[in-house]
Amino acid sequence: MAESKLNVIVVGSGLAGLAAASVLRVHHNVTVYERGSPNVATGGQGIVLYPNGIKILNSVGFDGSRAGGVPCHGYRMLDKDGKLLEDIPIDFKGRWGADMLMMKRSDFRDELMRLATTPATEPGIKGEPAQLVFNTSVVDLDPEAGTICFADGSVVKGDVIIVADGIHSTLRERITKTKGHVPKKTGLTLFRVAVSTKDAQEAGGSLPEWWDDGKDENRLNIMQLDDPLRIIANYPIRQKSYRNLSCLFPMHEARQGILETWYKDGDKEEMLQTFDGFDEKTRKILSIATEVKVWDLEELDTLPNWHRGRALVIGDAAHAMTPLQGQGANMAIEDADSLRLLLPGMSRAEIESALQKIDSIRRPRAAKVLQDTRKQTKSTTLQDRLATMDYNCSYNGIYEALEEALSS
Ligand SMILES: Cc1cc2nc3c(=O)[nH]c(=O)nc-3n(C[C@H](O)[C@H](O)[C@H](O)COP(=O)(O)OP(=O)(O)OC[C@H]3O[C@@H](n4cnc5c(N)ncnc54)[C@H](O)[C@@H]3O)c2cc1C
Repeated sequence: MAESKLNVIVVGSGLAGLAAASVLRVHHNVTVYERGSPNVATGGQGIVLYPNGIKILNSVGFDGSRAGGVPCHGYRMLDKDGKLLEDIPIDFKGRWGADMLMMKRSDFRDELMRLATTPATEPGIKGEPAQLVFNTSVVDLDPEAGTICFADGSVVKGDVIIVADGIHSTLRERITKTKGHVPKKTGLTLFRVAVSTKDAQEAGGSLPEWWDDGKDENRLNIMQLDDPLRIIANYPIRQKSYRNLSCLFPMHEARQGILETWYKDGDKEEMLQTFDGFDEKTRKILSIATEVKVWDLEELDTLPNWHRGRALVIGDAAHAMTPLQGQGANMAIEDADSLRLLLPGMSRAEIESALQKIDSIRRPRAAKVLQDTRKQTKSTTLQDRLATMDYNCSYNGIYEALEEALSS
């Protein structure tokens, strides 16, 4: 007789929660509790997923084309007028075994939702669909008892609780047993817009050369203007019918806004003023954006532990970092992959031991990626950047990481 599935509770249906559900459903019963609605805000701007994340997602049936993913083939450094300074081709798939994909965040989330909830009749999908319960806040949890509690006082018990409630987690301190671990501002602000290729063409008469190089080279462009430092990173998304523009600058005043949701509206005029100095074509594209979002970027110092009793914290709740390496969601997907160590029929002691192993592998790795991300704000060399990219993208999942840890 097949060994009994574990009943796993996941708190939060962000990228971490959905990735966890997509992996866990293969062997277990999964219920995800989400405080928001099914259309929980994710923003229409871009997200890049590196080979370390994509390799894991491919193993649970991910279809990049459904998410409109554009494979990235390298970076281009440009000046403020869009003049090419340096072209850095990178064969992500050849080097690290999977594409780096550039996607619209909402398309990516839709694809994760499919992986978590679609019947196993679809190619690559296994196990029973995860159950998603929306508009339901988890207000407390007891890691030892394996229970979560809702606002009306009702309680649900599981064999395992995965806490994926984001950077402003209210539940992580139940696991860490510390109070001081709260996100901190980094002094960087980021405006983001997504503009359709059609609108950009109509508004400018033609597309800037950096947008359409005519050679299908699919680069992620980085346009930089110093003194004061301002960076516009842009890349194609949704099968190239849109482009994401991420506009980064050091915070110039004490801003009140704190990243709480993916739907914080930004002020287009403030964005245009801040990015004064870039060429007219680029500013024109910023000016026609229909939705402007802003983030005062925050990060979280490394936690003392991710595991207690039957509970594990993952995703931004465990290791929020700025998007300067584009690794935050990739780390969440790696966390999700590590949940493969939870096997049907495990006793409580075995569950605790598996969660402790996950903590021992994932926490140091996320801490290193956080440290490397912090260094990206200083003037790192291309060599350094490629070395960190190699460290990030070479990850092949929890089993290989455990073997390496045992042999070292
Ligand atoms: C501007 C920006 C750009 C980024 N770009 C990239 C990128 O290109 N590549 C990359 O890898 N990473 C990127 N990141 C990082 C990435 O977005 C995050 O790491 C990722 O979204 C974290 O997902 P999460 O599920 O942990 O958290 P969240 O997405 O915050 O999800 C948490 C979920 O939990 C729910 N929730 C919270 N509290 C409760 C509760 N008590 N009960 C029930 N539900 C609850 C929330 O409603 C939410 O749905 C970027 C980050 C930023 C800010």
